[in-house]
Order: sequence, then structure tokens, then C-alpha cells
Amino acid sequence: MEHIENNDEFGGLSVNKGIEQPPTVNPYLKKRQKKKHYTPDEYVEGILRGDRTILSQAVTLVESSRTEHQAVAQEVIEKCLPHAGNAIRVGITGVPGAGKSTSIDTFGMHLISKGKKLAVLAIDPSSERSKGSILGDKTRMEQLSVQENAFIRPSPSAGSLGGVARKTRETIILCEAAGFDTIIVETVGVGQSETAVHSMVDFFMLLQVPGTGDELQGIKRGIMELADGVVINKADGNNIEKAQLAQAQFRNALHLFPATQSGWSPKVLTYSGYYGLGITEIWDMVYEYMDFTKINGYFDFRRSEQAKYWMYESINENLKNHFYKNHHRETELKHMEQQVLKGEISSFIAAKRMLDEYFREK
Ligand code: GDP
Repeated sequence: MEHIENNDEFGGLSVNKGIEQPPTVNPYLKKRQKKKHYTPDEYVEGILRGDRTILSQAVTLVESSRTEHQAVAQEVIEKCLPHAGNAIRVGITGVPGAGKSTSIDTFGMHLISKGKKLAVLAIDPSSERSKGSILGDKTRMEQLSVQENAFIRPSPSAGSLGGVARKTRETIILCEAAGFDTIIVETVGVGQSETAVHSMVDFFMLLQVPGTGDELQGIKRGIMELADGVVINKADGNNIEKAQLAQAQFRNALHLFPATQSGWSPKVLTYSGYYGLGITEIWDMVYEYMDFTKINGYFDFRRSEQAKYWMYESINENLKNHFYKNHHRETELKHMEQQVLKGEISSFIAAKRMLDEYFREK
């Protein structure tokens, strides 16, 4: 019988050709190049040439906890040191949502338009997630992240604050040797990280948002005292009046503080990171501060104090690591801890015994 289904072409028993399956491996994926290991001199030479890939790899070494990486990193840092120190270093702190990334993005574009080369680093010891980075997501700084004259590096992975901060400080040296003339170090407004950032920058900026009408609430006095400038963000739209009110409150509060060691009176400005309003004034303030402190000698004084501080920090960090990073001692400590908890021994005696034993091992 004449029927279309009796036709071979449409018969159910024949196997159709089917469609071509995509390959299991993405053909567009570039073959991953094996990471080249450079000698310390090659790293230094690359950094001084401004090679960003080599700079990035050197920073990775600085951040690594492996002894062999650290040895190379320290040699590279030492050789870069004579070429560092010429940038201005600005710390920026503010609670999450204050507008740090929006502001740094806008600040960065402003600086680049003035011919500057900017490195943005971060200290966030609190965050284990996303490999300890508040800058992990580069989309946070959309415009800046694609600029040739900007180098954005997330916070080193979580660890002790001292360790994370040391790595960032060493990264500053590498970035400066690579020719970046402006360094911004960002931190979230929690815990002790402000103190750490303050100890590695020339100018410390506190970012605030207008809101409740009582802006000073919730800000630790200690952080206010660290600030060389307070900038009130989101001064746009309906927020303008609130921002001005906040500005007045901060100015009054800062008046009550004792004079700063630098002789500089911290300024309070309003701006909008989002709309790029008031940005020039903020950087004028930063440059004015630099001139002021360079003339009165405070700039050099602060940098030498910081160098001293980091020497002691480094000693403390190493001692602590040496004490704690010992398998046998970890067990002993747990044992002691239990005795202290049970009230069998006082905290001080327990500590003394552990330390005595440690020094006897020496
Ligand atoms: P961060 O957590 O401190 O980095 O804050 P973000 O930069 O991510 O900003 C938090 C929110 O505030 C985002 O939704 C921004 O769009 C908004 N924001 C940031 N700057 C401004 C500003 O100048 N004006 C206004 N109206 N909103 C802003």
C-alpha cells in the first residue's frame, strides 16, 4: 500500500543521523600555560619594568605560606625596597555598604584621568569566604578593573590580622617598585583592621553615609581619632540635607578631639561616589595634607614610625608562629586548657609552664 510511513526514509527502524554533539572540552579554552618560575632577579627586573603579570606572581609569592616561596619573596622585596616609597598611600575604611567600592572606582578613574597609576589593595582578615577577599569580585570596581593603569588585588586570604597586614604592606613595596604612584588600601570598618591599615598609609580616610541623624553613634572613637579626613558619601538626591547635617556633626565632634600629632586639622567633606560629585575636592584635600606634612616633617616621621612598628610586628608574628606551630605543643596546650577549665591550675601558671618548657627547648 502506498503510504508515507512505508517509505524507508520515514520507517521507524532506520537510525537517523542525529545532531553533532559538542566536544567535551571547550575548543576556545586556551591551553593553560605552565606557570613559569622566575629567579628573584627576574622577578625584580620584571617588576621594575612594570610587568603586571610578574608583579601579580610576585604578590602571590608574598602571600604564600610555603617556606621556599617566602625565601624568594623576601629577596624580591629587599631588592625592590630601594625603588619603593615614592607613592602616596591612602587608607580607606567604612562599614560594608558605605560605598567603598563605588568610591574607589570613581576615585580611581579620577586619578587615572590625571595621569596617575593606581594600585588598590585590601585588608580583610575576617572573611574566609571567597578566599578572604572583600575585593574578590572585580565587578565591584567595574570601570577601574579594566584600566591599564590600575592594579587591583584582593585581600590576602584570611589568617591572623598581623599576617594579612604584613603581606599587604609588602605588596605595597612591590607595587611602588612597579611604578604605581598612588596606593589605596581598603578595609572594612570592623575590628582592628583600621589600626593595621593606619600603620601603613600616609592618609587615613573614613567613609561615612548619612542616615539616622545621629551619625556619630556606632563609630568607635578610636577610628575617628585615626582619621585625617572624613568623607560623607551619597550626598545626592534626597540625601543632600542629611549629608550636610552629618558633616556638621562630624566637624563638631572632631573639634572636641585633642590636636593631632601631625598638626593637621582633619577635614569633613560631602560627596557622591555614584555621581562623581565632590571627588576633586577630596583629592585636593589628600594632596594638601601631603604637602602640609612633608613641609612640617610629619610625613617622614610617620613613615619611620611605621617602619619601626613593622619591625616589631614582624618579630612578634614570628615568635608567635614559632611557639604555636609545633605539633607536640598543640597537644600540650589542649591538655593545659582542660586543666585550666577544670580549675586545676590557674591561667597564669599554665602559661608560665608552657613558656618555661618552650625556653628550655631553646
Ligand atoms: P561597600 O560595601 O562599602 O564597598 O559599598 P558599595 O560601593 O558596594 O555601595 C553600597 C551601595 O551604596 C550600593 O548599592 C551603591 O550603589 C550605593 N552607593 C554607593 N555610592 C553611592 C552614592 O554616592 N550615592 C548613592 N545614592 N548611592 C551610592
